[in-house]
Amino acid sequence: MRRCLLTLLLSLSASLGMAQTLSLTFDDGLHPGKFPEAPLWNQQMLASLKAAEVSAMVFPSLVRTGGEAGLELIREWGRQGHAVGNHTASHHSLASAQVSLADFIADVQQAEASLRSMPRWTSMLRFPYLKEGDTLEKRDGMRRWMQSAGYRAAPVSIDASDWYYNQIYSVWMELGQAGKAEQVKAAYIAHLLDRGAYYDGLARQVLGRSPAHVLLLHTSRINAAALADVIAAFRAQGWTVVSPEMAFADPLYAMQPDTLPAGESVIWAMAKVRQLPGLRYPAEDAVYEAPALEAQGLLPPAYKKP
Ligand SMILES: [Zn+2]
Repeated sequence: MRRCLLTLLLSLSASLGMAQTLSLTFDDGLHPGKFPEAPLWNQQMLASLKAAEVSAMVFPSLVRTGGEAGLELIREWGRQGHAVGNHTASHHSLASAQVSLADFIADVQQAEASLRSMPRWTSMLRFPYLKEGDTLEKRDGMRRWMQSAGYRAAPVSIDASDWYYNQIYSVWMELGQAGKAEQVKAAYIAHLLDRGAYYDGLARQVLGRSPAHVLLLHTSRINAAALADVIAAFRAQGWTVVSPEMAFADPLYAMQPDTLPAGESVIWAMAKVRQLPGLRYPAEDAVYEAPALEAQGLLPPAYKKP
């Protein structure tokens, strides 16, 4: 009964344009050979998800996880109920002229061979750099291959630059400047909320409604430190966090926008098809974030600007 009431309230507030829904997805995985703290960061992200009762999805790339120790960290996501998808073996961009369709498919298959025995494995593909091909042949060839191989694409609706905030955060931590790192963390959370509001607004223009969003994050040091606060900040602004499986059921994620180069946020790509004014390319990048961090005195000394 209470559940029915909650559902009614949620759908009522959604129809009034108040409710926003998002799910969390994490790309890449951590490489214990490169980062000795990888098991700790992995455990911190999983603990934050568990405490917040959030089910997420992880998309590992073999070159980013390294060998068996890195795969074991991914396996732990599956054991704790988070779905495990595919982010290729080599993390090559399908938009690169050096990467053929055949190379890219082989790369997806190589990753699957290492990942398909994971608990909660699901045959969904997150394209590296969100790049879905620079030519019609590659874009449509990949779409056809995925259909024949039983794969679904795993696009995002909310793109952001968490990887860049992670770089800056990590530099301050290495310099022993925890205070500065803490300020970067606060700027990072504000950045995610800002991107959430932006892409939700864009969705309302393109779809006429607020969809169940999919947010792009990475398994990283800053998310180990900030994830609990990130989830709390979205909830404080009225967002409901759902599982990626629920979000991907939104028909938005089955759409195949006709753009070249293909990719970016699926909402961005749909806006591009409609030729909405004011769209920037790339949609998200460090070049937009560095000036904002510099203005706040948060770019580390001698840190090369993008
Ligand atoms: Zn990636």
